[in-house]
Amino acid sequence: QVFSSVTNPNPFAPFVARAFSSDSTPIRATLFPGDGIGPEIADSVKQIFKAADVPIEWEEHYVGDQIDPRTQSFLTWESLESVRRNGVGLKGPMATPIGKGHRSLNLTLRKELNLYANVRPCYSLPGYKTRYDGVNLITIRENTEGEYSGLEHQVVRGVVESLKIITRQASLRVAEYAFHYAKTNGRGRVSAIHKANIMQKTDGLFLKCCREVAEKYPEIKYEEVVIDNCCMMLVKNPALFDVLVMPNLYGDIISDLCAGLIGGLGLTPSLNIGEGGIALAEAVHGSAPDIAGKNLANPTALLLSSVSMLRHLNFNDKADQIQSAILNTIAEGKYRTADLGGSSSTTDFTKAICDHL
Ligand code: NAD
Repeated sequence: QVFSSVTNPNPFAPFVARAFSSDSTPIRATLFPGDGIGPEIADSVKQIFKAADVPIEWEEHYVGDQIDPRTQSFLTWESLESVRRNGVGLKGPMATPIGKGHRSLNLTLRKELNLYANVRPCYSLPGYKTRYDGVNLITIRENTEGEYSGLEHQVVRGVVESLKIITRQASLRVAEYAFHYAKTNGRGRVSAIHKANIMQKTDGLFLKCCREVAEKYPEIKYEEVVIDNCCMMLVKNPALFDVLVMPNLYGDIISDLCAGLIGGLGLTPSLNIGEGGIALAEAVHGSAPDIAGKNLANPTALLLSSVSMLRHLNFNDKADQIQSAILNTIAEGKYRTADLGGSSSTTDFTKAICDHL
């Protein structure tokens, strides 16, 4: 099994454990297939879970075609209730029309479910060569505030204002998650990424909170790196970093940069951690409208996200089995999607993974 030498056995151990049954009683999980390539890659997950006999019953929810006044977005109240009730879910990408004025679906989910930390592991896939070997990074993104607070307005004609909110509470919470993650996953270093030289109040407060938390974890090395320098260092030598924690916008950008180091957005999973132990797994990428409906999408990112969901539920055997099948299929090289230089369709690649289970 090719993957086990490069990946952490349980990079998604829950921070706040919820009681999930450990016998074979099926667990209900919410599934948002999402937009664009979402339904195609969600089908891939469903097929592979079925082939691997994973005891999960999906509760599927679709984005509505009208604004639900209770959520002020196209997400229905029922779908949010489903995640709250189940405590766990998987989400396909959701498109946000640029500048159209309705509340982003992703923002709504993060705010309503208080998904405060977004964990984005990024590691080199065995057998898939890029310019970088042995990449093994974890980006932890604050997920509820910063530049993505959704507070924008026109001051006077030709002048708009966007508010960046940083609170002590949210910064301490995500910093605590990052250090706890580092400690429980055998990681030695946490780097706080910032621009406090310019954003003195907001990023300054973020750093102050990170320093406070760092003092509680003397065994973990702590450093602060300015975001522009961080980009340069990542591209020059990704091995300079281990766990990175940062405000919302920086996390969004840096994690795409990290995806580029290992082969692109088709490969990188994430897990959103919410208050009370809620976990919502999702790929880092968006709805990829340029390839939607063409059976070309790489389902790996969503599949690895679903693996993170299984680990969160402590279904580690199933998670190992599916993760091995995905990584071994890619390593073998016979079936790869176009983004990885192959010519397999989403469905052929999915079938190949099922054959590797
Ligand atoms: P994108 O991630 O959808 O696509 C960027 C590029 O990567 C495209 O060329 C696309 O074809 C490629 N790509 C992405 N995922 C792929 C996959 N699984 N397999 C193969 N190629 C893949 O980013 P975008 O075009 O900037 O955004 C499109 C829409 O998605 C926008 O409405 C945006 O708001 C939304 N979005 C949603 C999320 C989310 O739901 N979490 C995240 C990012 C963007």
